[in-house]
Amino acid sequence: MELPAKVDVLIVGAGPVGLTLAAALKRRGRSVLLIDQQAEGAHTSRAAVVHAGTLEALDELGATAALLASGVRARQFSARDHKAVLLTIDFDAIPSRYPFALLCPQDRTEAILLDRLQAFGGDVVRPCTLSDLAADDDGVTATLERGGRTHSVEAGWVVGCDGVRSTVRDKAHIAIEGGPYPENFVLADVAVTGAFDPHEVVLYLAADGMLLFAPLPCDRVRIVATVAEAPEHPSLATVQRLLDERTALAVTIAETFWTGRFHIHHRVAATMLQGRVVLCGDAAHEHSPAGGQGMNTGIQDAVALAGPLDEALAGGDLAALQAWAEQRRRNAKRVVAMTDRMTRAATVTSTPARVLRNAAMRLIGHLPPARHAIAARLAEVDRHTREP
Ligand SMILES: Cc1cc2nc3c(=O)[nH]c(=O)nc-3n(C[C@H](O)[C@H](O)[C@H](O)COP(=O)(O)OP(=O)(O)OC[C@H]3O[C@@H](n4cnc5c(N)ncnc54)[C@H](O)[C@@H]3O)c2cc1C
Repeated sequence: MELPAKVDVLIVGAGPVGLTLAAALKRRGRSVLLIDQQAEGAHTSRAAVVHAGTLEALDELGATAALLASGVRARQFSARDHKAVLLTIDFDAIPSRYPFALLCPQDRTEAILLDRLQAFGGDVVRPCTLSDLAADDDGVTATLERGGRTHSVEAGWVVGCDGVRSTVRDKAHIAIEGGPYPENFVLADVAVTGAFDPHEVVLYLAADGMLLFAPLPCDRVRIVATVAEAPEHPSLATVQRLLDERTALAVTIAETFWTGRFHIHHRVAATMLQGRVVLCGDAAHEHSPAGGQGMNTGIQDAVALAGPLDEALAGGDLAALQAWAEQRRRNAKRVVAMTDRMTRAATVTSTPARVLRNAAMRLIGHLPPARHAIAARLAEVDRHTREP
C-alpha cells in the first residue's frame, strides 16, 4: 500500500485500541493512516476478557455480534481460599444488555476489529514504523520507516496507540509516572481434564500467591498466577504445580496452547492530549491485569475519542476533545488505583494480613449493594466510567 502524503489522522499502533479508533474514524468518513511496526498482527491470546462496557461501546462499530459468537460467557466471579468461598460477584445483575463477562482471546478480538475496519474501507499499513514526530499548532509531521525507505507524512492529528513503550509519547515528551510491580505474572492457555464450572472465573488466594482460573472458548482455560521469578515459557509441569498448590481443583492439564510471562507497571501519562498529539490505551495508562481492565479501558478510550476528534477536524472548537482527555485520564487513574488495590489484596502473604483480608472479603460478600457496585465497576458500566 502506498503511503499518503497527507491524512486527517495518523494512528500509530494497530493493537486493539488503534484498530478500534481507525474503524470509528473511517465510519465517520475521515482519512486515516493506521501503521504498525510488526509485519503481522499478534497471534497470542493476552487480554482474555471483554467486559460489558466494551461490548456496549463496540455495538456502534458492529463488532459486538461477532465477539459474542466467538467468546464464552462468565456469569460469576468468585474469590476463594482453597475450598472456602470468600466473595462471589454476579455479573448477571449488572445494568447492561450484556450481563456477563465475555472470555475471548485478544488475537480473536483484534481479528474482529480488523474486519470492521476493512468493512469501513480502512486497513493497516505494516510493517511501518514511526521514528520521529514534529508537532505545531496546525498539525503533525511524522517520519515513517517502511521497506528500507523514509517517508514524511503530514497529519492533522497523531494518536499514539503504540502501547506501553510508546514512541509517540516519547517524541512528544509526555511524562508517564508510576512504578513497577515486584511480582511476575505467569500466563497459560491450556486444556484440562476434570471438573470445573465453565461459566465462572475463580481467583484463588493462596499463601504463596494468587491464581486465576478462567474458561476460554474451544474448551480451553486461562491460568494467570503471580510468582517471584518466571521462566520465559513456563512449562506444563510448572503450571500444573501452581494449580495443585494454590487451588482446590482436581484438574490435570492435558495440553498447553500458549504460555508466557509478563512484568507490569502501574502508571498514567501526564496528559492524554498535548497540542495535536493524543495518547490512547496502553500508551496512556498501564495497569495490573487484575480485573482484566487494560484492553477494555483502551478500547473505550478509542470509541469515545472518535466523536471529539471528528468535531475538531470539522473545525469545531476543542472543548469536547479536552473534556475527553480529562475524563479518560481521570478514569485511567481510577482503574490504576482499583487494580492496584486488587493486586495488593491478592498478593498479601503474611498470615495476619491474609486473615484480615479474608474477613473483609467475607463481609463484602454479605453486602449485596457492595457486590453489585463491584460487578458494575469491573464491567465498566458504572457511573464513574460513564460520566461525561
Ligand atoms: C503477555 C501479555 C498478557 C496480557 N494479559 C492481559 C490480560 O490477561 N488482561 C488484560 O486486560 N490485559 C492483558 N494484557 C495487556 C493487553 O494486552 C493490553 O492492555 C492491550 O494490548 C493494549 O492495547 P493497545 O492497542 O493499547 O496496545 P498494544 O496491544 O500493545 O499495541 C500497540 C501496537 O503498537 C505497535 N507499535 C509500537 N511502537 C510503534 C511504532 N513506533 N511504530 C509503529 N507501530 C508501533 C506495536 O507493534 C503494537 O502492535 C497482556 C499483555 C501481554 C503482553
